[in-house]
Amino acid sequence: MEASNRISTLLGGGSDGWEVFLRARQMIADGIDVTELTIGEHDIRTAAPILQDMHRAALGGHTGYAAIPGIAALRDAVAARVMERTGVPTKRENVMITPGGQSALFAAHMAVIDPGDTALYIDPYYATYPGTLRGVSAVPKAVAARAEDAFQPRADDIDAAAKGARSLMINSPNNPTGVVYSRATLEGIAQVCQDHDLWLISDEVYDTQIWEGEHLSPRALPDMAKRTLVCGSMSKSHAMTGSRIGWVIGPEEIVTHLTNLATHTTYGVPGFIQDAALFALNLGATFEAEIAEPFRRRRALAQGVLSRHNRVTAVPSAGAMYLMLDVSATGMSGEAFADALLDTHHIAVMPGESFGAAAAGHIRVAMTIEDRAFEGALSTLCAFAQELGARA
Ligand code: PLP
Repeated sequence: MEASNRISTLLGGGSDGWEVFLRARQMIADGIDVTELTIGEHDIRTAAPILQDMHRAALGGHTGYAAIPGIAALRDAVAARVMERTGVPTKRENVMITPGGQSALFAAHMAVIDPGDTALYIDPYYATYPGTLRGVSAVPKAVAARAEDAFQPRADDIDAAAKGARSLMINSPNNPTGVVYSRATLEGIAQVCQDHDLWLISDEVYDTQIWEGEHLSPRALPDMAKRTLVCGSMSKSHAMTGSRIGWVIGPEEIVTHLTNLATHTTYGVPGFIQDAALFALNLGATFEAEIAEPFRRRRALAQGVLSRHNRVTAVPSAGAMYLMLDVSATGMSGEAFADALLDTHHIAVMPGESFGAAAAGHIRVAMTIEDRAFEGALSTLCAFAQELGARA
């Protein structure tokens, strides 16, 4: 018996660029001390008061089936948060609670894509994007953002790819580049969506991690709320990666369809997790700033280190928990550099190539270890590039 074509081609075949990561994990399993700057996960765990609330909710009996689009109080809280942050009128009926941002991305595409539809996304991209699109039987089509534009996608490039497409997925603040899309970029994107009648799927899971400027949700641009589905999550904003809690925000009709989809797939999110998520949201912006703070600090440390070296240059980023570094002056690909760095210094970073061709010659550094260790590892990385550059 054979698995479906859809599921067996989900990964697209070929190298996915995660070999360095897997090799690092194997070295750790073999007892080697590897500094991992790979995965986008905080070096703290979910805060105790949130877990205590989860515990209280579970002991209090919220362990049965929970409301499928989400419990009313949580949907209201998400709607209020979005309204406060964007000014766009948002009601409970616009909010679908999902098991994390990843499932929100999948559900959002399920809601707007029919098999064989072309779904656009921007390269460099979060590693799951093409698989998510193949998972809904879309034809994924990447539009490259250019390093020379600091990875702000050009409206003209999207426009050139958009004929006959059904949707466009964007992500700002961006993983892997850390770039926050400017108002001009987002207005250009909105225009293309209107010109080609595209749905816009806006992945905003890093919306609380802004180091410079501000986060603008494209749903807030004129006439965009009706064609935009925002995917959010508490993984990054509240250090709740393991709780699997997120949402899709969009037109009421889409949320009704998403409720039907969840009824036939996930059957919702556990009630005690939703209660804890509500508790966490009610901790407010101060708590969100506290969770983001270590990355702000480490970014400042990194700027200090990078200013003392010239073989590695940082992509001008303004958000998220990553740095994208251009290592092409060493004469190496991102992959070769990451491999050599792992072998020589036992420091693991992600090759830019694992996030798409547009990030070739770059590496992504996750700022997810303690400050001093982070600063030390980055100094080693920069000195290593300097040495390689001298030999090249
Ligand atoms: N979108 C982006 C850009 C991400 O980086 C991640 C996780 O790293 C996700 C979505 C999914 O996050 P989660 O499913 O934990 O909410």
